Amino acid sequence: MTMKRDYYEILGVSRTATIEEIKKAYRKLALKYHPDRNPGDKEAEERFKEAAEAYEVLKDKEKRQLYDMYGHQGLNGSDFSGFTRTEDIFSAFNDLFEDFFGFSTGRGSAQAEMGPKRGADLRYDLAITFIEAAKGTEKEIEIQRLEECSKCSGTGAAPGAKITSCPTCHGRGRIIRSEGFFQVASTCPTCNGEGTVFSEPCPSCKGKGRTPQYRKVKIKIPAGVDTGARLRLRDEGEAGIRGGQRGDLFIVIHVEPHEYFYRKGNDIYCEVEISSIQACLGDTIEVPTLEGTEQIKVPAGTQPDTIFKLKGKGFPDLRGFAHGNQLIKIKVVTPTNLTSKQKELLKEFLEIEKEKKKGGFFKKILKKVEFTKG
Ligand SMILES: [Zn+2]
Ligand SMILES: [Zn+2]
Repeated sequence: MTMKRDYYEILGVSRTATIEEIKKAYRKLALKYHPDRNPGDKEAEERFKEAAEAYEVLKDKEKRQLYDMYGHQGLNGSDFSGFTRTEDIFSAFNDLFEDFFGFSTGRGSAQAEMGPKRGADLRYDLAITFIEAAKGTEKEIEIQRLEECSKCSGTGAAPGAKITSCPTCHGRGRIIRSEGFFQVASTCPTCNGEGTVFSEPCPSCKGKGRTPQYRKVKIKIPAGVDTGARLRLRDEGEAGIRGGQRGDLFIVIHVEPHEYFYRKGNDIYCEVEISSIQACLGDTIEVPTLEGTEQIKVPAGTQPDTIFKLKGKGFPDLRGFAHGNQLIKIKVVTPTNLTSKQKELLKEFLEIEKEKKKGGFFKKILKKVEFTKG
């Protein structure tokens, strides 16, 4: 294991850099070190991967915050571990090009390789409710992705068109030109790396072999997910080229905040108001839970901010560990709008209380003052 370099240092930006500055810096590095421009150069490949990883983190508000607070350590959680695979790095790279040029390059389309090519991975950000996150749910989403053109079965040629070997590259898909001492290979511009040309392109896909189409995808979301969780749906990305494998679809989960609850780990927290009279005498109150409501007994003499725990009423654990708990904080409020009858009873109560505490009440205050002075 080698020490990881600082992400800001890798991209050459300051710690306060804006997202635009980060994007710009990454784009410059990615273009400079892209494997297609540096074939066989291990160091360039490392720089390319390093920059992609830094960008993946710093472009994401949540990940950046974690990184700023805890460094590389902060990103070791399961939700953030996936992006060291080359595939993800390329999809991050493709994302970037979509951002900049408004189109998808498709994985490896610049690589000028003959034979099948894998389709691009896609990302879909899905918002679910707090309760759906707790219980798990199934969703159907509609996405647009490149599918094999049905008119030409992905060949890109019009029906009856003549398909011949590309005259520019002689079917190799790439051309070699000399630049000083070096020979540089690049994608053949005539056939776009296909190696073949046809007399007439397919009118449906304009010769590309794939067309954007809408598809419905069912997603099973496990109980216990939190914001930032990534689900990978194999082969639900874009269609491959020339019989290549399909890309994957990544679903990034965003959990909406709840009206009463907030979540910390697998525990959920809420606050419930009771009156000071209920706190004095004790009462049975109704509290919201993930399942609906539950009655809890508040004992006589309950102090403000007392926390009651409902065991196992929090979130289920994704890895099958014990359920979280529900923690209920009691907020004691002073009743207003009392009727005259209520006021009368309370006055009587107060008189008795004064009798009871004669002397003792003031002693307590005095003691407290002495204590804070000391
Ligand atoms: Zn060619
Ligand atoms: Zn077609």
